[in-house]
Amino acid sequence: MGELRKDYILDRWVIIAAERAKRPHQFKQQEVKEEVGLCFFCPGNEKETPPEMYRFEKNGTWQIRAFPNKFTAVAPEGDPTIRTDNAFYTWSNNYGKHLVLVETPDHSKQLWDLSIDEITQVLRGYLEVFFHVHGDKNIKYVTIFKNHKKEAGTSIVHSHSQIIGYNKVPEEVGREVAASQNYNFCPYCDVIQRERGSTRRCFENDNFIAFCPYASRFPFEIWILPKQHVTHLEDIKDLPGLASMLKMALGKLKELNAAFNYVLHYSPTREDNLHFHIEIMPRLTIWAGFEMNGTVINPQPPEEAAKFYRGED
Ligand SMILES: [Zn+2]
Ligand SMILES: [Zn+2]
Ligand SMILES: [Zn+2]
Repeated sequence: MGELRKDYILDRWVIIAAERAKRPHQFKQQEVKEEVGLCFFCPGNEKETPPEMYRFEKNGTWQIRAFPNKFTAVAPEGDPTIRTDNAFYTWSNNYGKHLVLVETPDHSKQLWDLSIDEITQVLRGYLEVFFHVHGDKNIKYVTIFKNHKKEAGTSIVHSHSQIIGYNKVPEEVGREVAASQNYNFCPYCDVIQRERGSTRRCFENDNFIAFCPYASRFPFEIWILPKQHVTHLEDIKDLPGLASMLKMALGKLKELNAAFNYVLHYSPTREDNLHFHIEIMPRLTIWAGFEMNGTVINPQPPEEAAKFYRGED
């Protein structure tokens, strides 16, 4: 028997279809052969990318680079003001900044292969790029996210993240902020206390916890949150602790060779007070017509997914 579940605070519903549950290995993805060609993200091809805005070097060679996306979704030009021409047409130019952060010079490594030190440096790179993009007063929110593999939206094999800042708070973040404000405490702080003792808990360290959310939309969906109430990446003191949680979660997804997206959610402003978290969304199933209509059917109960993360399955 499955369940219809509501997200902790959002009016977002998911059908957990337990009768469709599969064993973790049944989700395992086939390896796709990569076509050989020039990789613009590899060392030696730096001049093929737009001018670099951030670089982290070790022993004279770069480890991380960030630069504007060649295929940009937004650009820092035009008018960022959202205006309404009549009752129905509300719009602005697609104002913003869109950057790529290459996480390693090594073409053969994915983020899940990097050391905790290296992943910590990627998080520091996120902060550098965040401050650069956030410095534009027309940009209301900077989304930091990663797509891994074609099923998750990228055909570029070389491990990278993307950063898009634009003139609006993305809807999902706005909904989390609004729903959080329905409480006179931080609901995520309370959720952490509940999930710590639940069958959905995956792992934790001194400062962070990871669990499969109650109304998981994706098989093996996993969230990482600081245990203390922190609203911004820049306020996190223990970046290696966060990197280590990311490595643990992604290391398990590597066993499934899973395509995934992750996205960092944080407070758009200091007043919004949204609890910082990372949502990791493996892409092992395809959303069909019913999901497009708003309710997701997830064939993997999060309680089963958490067993896999804990190494019990
Ligand atoms: Zn490459
Ligand atoms: Zn909190
Ligand atoms: Zn979120």
